[in-house]
Amino acid sequence: MSLVEDLERLEQTAHERIESATTAEQLEAARVALLGRKGQLTDMMHMMGSLSPEERPAVGKRANELRRLIEGMIERSSQSLAEVARQNLISREAVDISLPGVRPVIGHQHLISSILEEIEDIFCGMGYTVEYGRHVETTYYNFTALNAPEDHPSRSARDTFYVVDNAVGTADHAEAHARGESDILLRTQTSGQQVHALENEKPPIYMISPGTVYRPDTPDACHLPQFNQVEGLVVDEGITFGDLKGTLDTFIRAMFGEDRKTRYRPHFFPFTEPSCEVDVSCNVCHGKGCSFCKHSGWIEILGCGMVDPNVLEMSGVDSEKYTGFAFGIGAERVAALRYDLPDLRALMTGDMRFLAQF
Ligand SMILES: [Zn+2]
Repeated sequence: MSLVEDLERLEQTAHERIESATTAEQLEAARVALLGRKGQLTDMMHMMGSLSPEERPAVGKRANELRRLIEGMIERSSQSLAEVARQNLISREAVDISLPGVRPVIGHQHLISSILEEIEDIFCGMGYTVEYGRHVETTYYNFTALNAPEDHPSRSARDTFYVVDNAVGTADHAEAHARGESDILLRTQTSGQQVHALENEKPPIYMISPGTVYRPDTPDACHLPQFNQVEGLVVDEGITFGDLKGTLDTFIRAMFGEDRKTRYRPHFFPFTEPSCEVDVSCNVCHGKGCSFCKHSGWIEILGCGMVDPNVLEMSGVDSEKYTGFAFGIGAERVAALRYDLPDLRALMTGDMRFLAQF
């Protein structure tokens, strides 16, 4: 009865192999070794052919019992291995939600961007369109069409970044101009877009042009070589200085507070006639005089005027029929006045400790 003894030994072997399997792969290897096509039990089943007919049923029964026993052991072991693997996964991937998270550092809108947006909102509310224009312009749109004479100092290479350098101020340059060639420059003001508007649009025109402008200034507390302006232009029938004043008063009160007073002082700009500088009453002393307003009670806020008829005619607008006004506001100046910034260079640093305050 050596086959029966073999079956007993196989049961022992099966217990050992299955219990020692610690992974699904080891368990599968044990299954193949015991029950596979070339496995130990299968071999023994084949050998039953050599038994006598009397022996065969008892040994066959024992072999079938052993097969079911082994299958049961493998099934239970497989379930417990899967459970162990699941518990390992849970503990490995556990997230302690009570731990403080790592916050991603998010940026902050730049103070100048938010001031530009606020100015745009105020003028859009009054029915104006917003035109951003081009940063690279020609001398025609930046100076000539705005009534700036050929010898105006702002045209010199010391006051303007020329992109295509025709050696401003030399004989070659004068000849180039005589041939009608225009210099290419980084705009020193956004007014050029007003000329484009006059050329391309039919009055009535109510537009503002916000954006960055460039001048070769060394950065200091009050100057930046790159800053932002919002220039505005209105051209329509019957526009008077009263419309200019009403519009800018509305803007200034929306921007700085309903209780602020305004003052219009005569000034000169080539683009407008008559021209004014506009002051707003000091918010620190309310007009009494303090160090913030240099004891005048007023703070200069923008420049403006009625569009010079020459400017309208140069751009093909009938100055007998249409009148208009224009104005220019510095975004950095608005920021400095509103938040009492001691040094404009802080606006260029991108330092979040500074920017996140606004
Ligand atoms: Zn004051």
